[in-house]
Amino acid sequence: MKTSTFVPLLLVLGLSACRTTPPSNQVTQVATIDGLLAGVYDGEVSLAEIRKTGNFGLGTYQSLDGEMVLLDGTFYQIKGDGSVHRPPPEMLSPFAAVVDFQPTLYAELEEMDLAELKTRLDELVPNQNQFAAFSIHGNFASIRTRSVAAQKKPYPTLAEVVEIQSVFDLENVSGTLVGLRCPPFVKGLNVPGYHFHFITEEKDAGGHVLAFEMISGQLSADTVNEEFMVMLPKNTMHSDDVNLSHDRSKVLEVIEQ
Ligand SMILES: [Zn+2]
Repeated sequence: MKTSTFVPLLLVLGLSACRTTPPSNQVTQVATIDGLLAGVYDGEVSLAEIRKTGNFGLGTYQSLDGEMVLLDGTFYQIKGDGSVHRPPPEMLSPFAAVVDFQPTLYAELEEMDLAELKTRLDELVPNQNQFAAFSIHGNFASIRTRSVAAQKKPYPTLAEVVEIQSVFDLENVSGTLVGLRCPPFVKGLNVPGYHFHFITEEKDAGGHVLAFEMISGQLSADTVNEEFMVMLPKNTMHSDDVNLSHDRSKVLEVIEQ
């Protein structure tokens, strides 16, 4: 009798553990950067689903409604007007990349700008063929971020949207850079190289990072070298009016900077 009640209980515990533990050493992303560049801004994956795969990452929201920061398991939405919101779990995302952040490397960072930070991170985490996630909590003399407003159909391309992006110049703020460095082989799927979003300490400003002057910072880094999982949106991106045959890497370079 004891055995027959014990075994099903173990099974239940095992299943629930599988469902609630995010995969470690894995980058999970929603859709592709080329889809986003082509103007596929309708999401099919909810924040609740994305959250199951990690607690740290970046991306955007339904209809391109602002920049996404996922930090310590909380989603922040920095809208085109600069306001910061906490979107509901049923909100959809057309593009996001997240990890279960388990840092293995820590460093104190001195005064530096964005270009110097990239050089420093290349020294600290030299293997460019692995994914790496970076959390940098810092004090900034200045930081320039951008966000974009929600788009209406028919959706313009991302290059067209970015021409009318909102740029925010924040001064004397502290906050966290949420960064991802992707290997060269993600071309077409994600952004090769560095991609940073920012959220202030007070969670009242942020966005996609364009430039900064950091006074000091504390780095935590996590490398990912096991799995790269892409959630493919079945309806939107694969509709045959979306042309994904172009090489959009040059356009992407301009948009990211
Ligand atoms: Zn971004």
